[in-house]
Amino acid sequence: MIGVCVLGSTGSIGVSTLDVLGQHPQHYRVTALTANRDVDGLEAQCRRFRPALAVMADQDAALELRRRLHGSLPGTQVSAGMDGLLEAAADTNADYVMAAIVGAAGLLPALAAVEAGKRVLLANKEALVMSGQLFMDAAQRHGATLLPIDSEHNAVFQCLPTGFRNGLERAGVSRILLTASGGPFRDATLEQLSAVTPEQACAHPNWDMGRKISVDSATLMNKGLEVIEACWLFGTAPEQVQVLVHPQSVIHSLVQYVDGSVLAQLGNPDMRTPIAHALAWPHRLSSGVAELDLFEVARLDFQAPDLQKFPCLALAYRAMQAGGSAPAVLNAANEVAVAAFLDRRIGFTHIPQVVETTLDAMPVAAMMDVKHVLETDRRARAVAEQKAAALIE
Ligand code: NAD
Ligand code: MG
Repeated sequence: MIGVCVLGSTGSIGVSTLDVLGQHPQHYRVTALTANRDVDGLEAQCRRFRPALAVMADQDAALELRRRLHGSLPGTQVSAGMDGLLEAAADTNADYVMAAIVGAAGLLPALAAVEAGKRVLLANKEALVMSGQLFMDAAQRHGATLLPIDSEHNAVFQCLPTGFRNGLERAGVSRILLTASGGPFRDATLEQLSAVTPEQACAHPNWDMGRKISVDSATLMNKGLEVIEACWLFGTAPEQVQVLVHPQSVIHSLVQYVDGSVLAQLGNPDMRTPIAHALAWPHRLSSGVAELDLFEVARLDFQAPDLQKFPCLALAYRAMQAGGSAPAVLNAANEVAVAAFLDRRIGFTHIPQVVETTLDAMPVAAMMDVKHVLETDRRARAVAEQKAAALIE
């Protein structure tokens, strides 16, 4: 039996992960489940999967969960806060850790899993964007196996030869092609974009996701974060990563080789496919995803992304090219801007403005350790809050 800890189990990725695990109880046992403050959600998951540990990041929520489980679920210990999250991630009962907390809040737990040498199923792209080289070095130093859950990166991983870690050039790879749906406003005008509401931004045409990543998909910042994620995961430069808008979301990404071959991974847009792939790798596992019907798909379209309309993608390339602290600043400014947009404090087209002015305001520094990453994140958030407030004065 393989022990699996699911960080962020009540979210979109967490729920899909438990769906796959629930289909294979003979192979996997859930060791720990964690959430922020959704007591109802975590309580129901605990009753079904009976983990030894349940963690709520929020202290009051943890007290409430402990009260509810007391007596009826004696095998589940309830912990709270960052200490609880770190305990779940590094727990010796867990062989695999699904890192599916959203945003910078997931960095330390994901890193704890890496430092404990786990198989880490990485959904939390923000953690890697913020800490880049430090994260990859830690994985190597502690013998962790990093498997991408992001559908594009999982697709690229499936299209690369096993020896790709010795260098993409040696593997004959000339380019990584990341596909993007283009989001719900692919064909909107700039004027229409400025009037977009949080409800419209969160209604994605092909994927059902958490609110933060839904907004990121609508601004194309999600693709920008994914370009940075690809550079770290596959050891390549941003110039080698090209984004293709592919509205059907059937090809999840492609790898181009020097001999002219292009390998792609296709499937219905359902995150249970990459989740099942990473759980079973190097084997295969059924996921509950319907078989792809190419006759029904009928056609596959591609277009170049519009960087005028979606400046977030260009800002992400700029941050990766600048290196050092710039990707962490980009990520923090984006998290602040997206939260302000979801709170209706700023408009949709203000999001790239907050990110750009924050990047402009903060000099690029080398990142020495994780403390430095967290300090950069904190400072960039403060600057971004000022920039957001200035925009609406
Ligand atoms: P979500 O908002 O649906 O879920 C987030 C989870 O994290 C929840 O369980 C929540 O309780 C927990 N959480 C939130 N804030 C927390 C905090 N401060 N401390 C501890 N836990 C906290 O998000 P999601 O869509 O499942 O995305 C999760 C991650 O996976 C993100 O990094 C996202 O970019 C990535 N991802 C998601 C998808 C998708 O299809 N949803 C696809 C690719 C990558
Ligand atoms: Mg993705």
